[in-house]
Amino acid sequence: MSIVVTGSAGRIGSRVARRLLDEGEAVVGFDLRPAGIDHPRYREVIGAFSDPAAARQAAEGAKAVLHLGALMSWRREDADRLWEANVTGTRMVAEAAAAAGCRRFVFASSGEVYPENVPAYQPIDEDHPLAPRTPYGLTKLLGEEIVRFLGRTGAMETVILRFSHTQDAAELLDPDSFFSGPRFFLHPKIRQQEAFGNAAAVAALEAVDDGREALVLSRNENGRPFAMHITDTRDMVEGILLALRHPAAAREVFNLGASEPVDFARALPLMAERTGLPLREVNLPGPGIHYRTANRKIRERLGFTPTWTIERMIDEAVAARSARQRS
Ligand code: NAD
Repeated sequence: MSIVVTGSAGRIGSRVARRLLDEGEAVVGFDLRPAGIDHPRYREVIGAFSDPAAARQAAEGAKAVLHLGALMSWRREDADRLWEANVTGTRMVAEAAAAAGCRRFVFASSGEVYPENVPAYQPIDEDHPLAPRTPYGLTKLLGEEIVRFLGRTGAMETVILRFSHTQDAAELLDPDSFFSGPRFFLHPKIRQQEAFGNAAAVAALEAVDDGREALVLSRNENGRPFAMHITDTRDMVEGILLALRHPAAAREVFNLGASEPVDFARALPLMAERTGLPLREVNLPGPGIHYRTANRKIRERLGFTPTWTIERMIDEAVAARSARQRS
């Protein structure tokens, strides 16, 4: 019997697949792209989640499915692809798993179902109202509903994990990284805000730009620094494995992420000190990002113990940046 890992070529899925193989499990990867894993206990299905034949092929002989793959996009032009990958795709993967007699189905949802950046109260726990504000968040909520429905009406033990923002530490100080570039680096942030059509944000950012590469400490319009959870992929892997195996995880919903949010007013000066890059500070229009999400339920019920603080992640990010600069 195998464990299916969808999104097996992705940031989180690839690490989960390798970890399960190390532990002696048979793993089936399912992704649009190959994961580059060469192992006698690894089989791979290359295809779209929304293709029922590919989903059936992946689920054959599965004792569990970790549905970690999804399209993450906030671009308007990706609306149809988002639906196809995350709603139709989740339905096909989950139905194939149920039909194959799979016992446990773990679904990677997201804090965007609340959404975390517009909280009704904090810390955001699993009872917080669900009111996504982006098409991506909506597809994750619909994915949850599909999974809940199959759990309610069938025999699969479903587990919904609402993931924190997640990064490989090595990505943190990479200006070309999809997430960290626009979050921490001035020029990628200007390009991102231009693409979103946020003229006022672009003007505020350009006002502190002297043309040199720089880090940027974002504050809201009242000067409050951004704060959000940034969880290391390795901690996420531990939480996903608990969701896979712990008896108390069955039919539950858990926030999964670091215990403390990252305070940008502390992290950015540390990044600047460790890289030697200049640090720009900018007040961006609007309320900004400032949230705290509770991981108490998964810590208390499943024994989740995250160990990767932002300081440890920055240590590794600095080493990765130096290695990139040398090569
Ligand atoms: P990732 O983008 O690194 O990996 C996703 C993988 O899914 C990719 O390899 C991609 O090829 C595959 N994929 C996308 N659409 C597909 C389709 N239609 N058919 C088959 N494969 C497809 O993402 P990640 O950071 O590893 O995230 C894993 C999961 O966690 C996703 O479900 C994501 O929505 C969720 N999540 C991630 C974060 C984060 O910050 N990384 C935060 C919240 C939730």
